[in-house]
Amino acid sequence: MLTVNALAAPSATDALVRTTVQRRDLGPRDILIEIAYAGICHSDIHTVRGDWGPVPYPLTVGHEIVGRVAEAGAEVTRHAVGDRVGVGCMVNSCRECDNCKAGYEQYCTNGNTGTYASVDRDGTVTQGGYSTHIVVDEDFVLRVPESIPYEAAAPLLCAGITTYSPLAHWKAGPGRKVAVVGMGGLGHMGVKIAAAMGAEVTVLSQTLGKKDDGLRFGAQHYYATGDPATFEALANTFDLIVNTVSAPVDMAAYLGLLRLDGTLVSVGAPPEPLPVQVFSLFGNRRSFAGSSIGGIAETQEMLDFCAEQGIAPEVEVIEADAVNEAYERVLKSDVRYRFVIDIASLR
Ligand code: NAP
Ligand code: ZN
Ligand code: ZN
Repeated sequence: MLTVNALAAPSATDALVRTTVQRRDLGPRDILIEIAYAGICHSDIHTVRGDWGPVPYPLTVGHEIVGRVAEAGAEVTRHAVGDRVGVGCMVNSCRECDNCKAGYEQYCTNGNTGTYASVDRDGTVTQGGYSTHIVVDEDFVLRVPESIPYEAAAPLLCAGITTYSPLAHWKAGPGRKVAVVGMGGLGHMGVKIAAAMGAEVTVLSQTLGKKDDGLRFGAQHYYATGDPATFEALANTFDLIVNTVSAPVDMAAYLGLLRLDGTLVSVGAPPEPLPVQVFSLFGNRRSFAGSSIGGIAETQEMLDFCAEQGIAPEVEVIEADAVNEAYERVLKSDVRYRFVIDIASLR
């Protein structure tokens, strides 16, 4: 066992504190990663605050992880010591169900092993990336291209893949009109990726406060959802809407913006239900869908796509002790556009 420095939530209401967590001894197919940066996803906050239900405390979260391979088990073939690698939201899955076999480990019908707050194969609770090291099976470790700025790469492992996957699945590309609702961590990557795929991108944000940034990220249009005129101006417009909002929004209003056969996909995960009247779906034969992160092969495809396209998250790098302040800023939508913890400050 390796004892490593970490940040952990002692309860749903206490601030995160410095502590240590245990990492298992390296198995033959395991990799020890020395973590360099860990992104702060809104899901980390939902989880530690108990928004989605009870979790085991103390808990170390963090599922946007980049670092270097420090040690590799005897049978490891995919990665070598010194490689720049990443870990996202999953560290294992059953590998036998139809979904796993098809490369959809995120939809493992036996339940994948989450990077944190999951029961690991040895019966312990997984602890996430706000820590100096992590041990992960090589199959769930991604190659992170060196051309992506190191401090900006981590958010790709969740915010990047969670927006890439639905954009790819619902065919964002030339001739397709895509709207991204909420321009935070996920949303700003959704804008960059959809634009890189060639779609005509519109940002739907609460205000026009981040308009210049949205246009710089590749959007052609930017509207304030606080202005009711937006919903009239954009009625029957989009082929695809990706909703990244962490709180409930009025589904009927957004569904009304879809054109014939359009789809609204929610990746935002508020604890409350998102009620939908079927009549909102009848017009234009609309669909309302959800999407969860992405499979391992698709996550690698996304990393390589971002490297090729020269796109990366916009990050604000913070020291470990600033994490609680960063959480408060995320909750106020005051994030530009992802906080990333410099793990050197935890050593
Ligand atoms: P974030 O950085 O906080 O961004 C959310 C954005 O939503 C905010 O920046 C804000 O954008 C908008 N927003 C926040 N509160 C709002 C409200 N009350 N009304 C309207 N708009 C509001 O969060 P994130 O890290 O991108 O995560 C977003 C959501 O996705 C979270 O619920 C998270 O748990 C979930 N998530 C899901 C998956 C998945 O696999 N499906 C993966 C990762 C995260 P504007 O300021 O532009 O309005
Ligand atoms: Zn996440
Ligand atoms: Zn499975």
